[in-house]
Amino acid sequence: TFKQSQLLETLPKQFFASLVEKVNKIIAQGHDVINLGQGNPDQPTPDHIVKAMQNAVEKPQFHKYSPFRGHTFLKEAIATFYKREYGVEIDPSTEVSILFGGKAGLVEVPQCLLNPGDVVLVPDPGYPDYWSGVELARAKMEVMPLIREKHFLPDYNSLTKEVVEKAKLMILNYPNNPTGATATEEFFEETVGFARGNDICVVHDFAYGAIGFDGKRPISFLQTKGAKEVGIEIYTFSKSYNMAGWRIGFAVGNPSVIEALNLLQDHMYVSVFSAIQEAAAHALLSPQTCVAELNALYESRRNTLIQAFREIGWDVTAPSGSFFAWLPVPNQFESSQDFSDYLLENAHVVVAPGIGFGEYGEGYVRVGLLTSEERLVEAANRIKALNLF
Ligand code: PLP
Repeated sequence: TFKQSQLLETLPKQFFASLVEKVNKIIAQGHDVINLGQGNPDQPTPDHIVKAMQNAVEKPQFHKYSPFRGHTFLKEAIATFYKREYGVEIDPSTEVSILFGGKAGLVEVPQCLLNPGDVVLVPDPGYPDYWSGVELARAKMEVMPLIREKHFLPDYNSLTKEVVEKAKLMILNYPNNPTGATATEEFFEETVGFARGNDICVVHDFAYGAIGFDGKRPISFLQTKGAKEVGIEIYTFSKSYNMAGWRIGFAVGNPSVIEALNLLQDHMYVSVFSAIQEAAAHALLSPQTCVAELNALYESRRNTLIQAFREIGWDVTAPSGSFFAWLPVPNQFESSQDFSDYLLENAHVVVAPGIGFGEYGEGYVRVGLLTSEERLVEAANRIKALNLF
């Protein structure tokens, strides 16, 4: 047996691994479990994208190494997509980096820009992989609390001068996992000013960019004046096109950050399988009907879930984007973990305890809109039978 490196020992424990274990135990006992705890899209990749992939696989030139840093056709498609969807100009040769999913980019960026001990501002609650990226860069994390009273947007004025002076990088994510909050133009404007004034690089994780409700389309950080001077945006095909298993995403924006990402990747990979790159380009350049349909599906599920939970007396707020709802833990429970365990054991309903997303996640649980409306209503009925509200 070989000992793991000290670096690996510093990585945060995979909080949700223990939840999966508990869930599997209940399933093994023969119970019908409704799993609202995960973030894995339940719908298949749209047919036209699968067909594009099938055709691409047949092309012998795609069986060779793809060009380092990816195919020009995909980078051009990404530029076309950003221009068409957000009115943002992207130079495909210097402002795009192809990624093995958004997660890869989020973990790589700190290693590209930071030296040991540098400070990263990370949202709390937030997507746990941000922490891993910070640790792998041997950097230091300072949290930006996201609280309901501030619409789950960080309050830059509440950060201490000392923290702000040391910060080199900041991660933001809207529509937000886990809170379901969306950003406003004013907030992004404030962010550009704050980042510029303090020499902080912004990484905006736009993983849920395609999912916004009540007729409000999520805005891209790069739509903000000056955004490209202070940061990048990371986009993924996983949620917008139900391509989570395909492992492809991209970063766009500030050329110096893009160059750093590309340089790191030069030493690690060649690039994503060419046929996947072709299918991804096809997804971006085709009519976006599938995206609109997906958005409508999640909105309908959200409406059903929120209504069903309100009807049983649970005082829940509707998310404005992403496919998650962020729900308060009832008073009689000590912690989000206790409540989550209770629901699993007594209703066979899985929710993700808020503490798994950070200290400020305590007091909430995250519920995914990744199953049918019938199952969402069934979950509400099972919870109703527990007489908690
Ligand atoms: N960012 C957020 C907030 C996420 O929730 C996820 C996936 O769950 C990702 C990034 C990573 O997505 P992927 O690596 O599949 O592109």
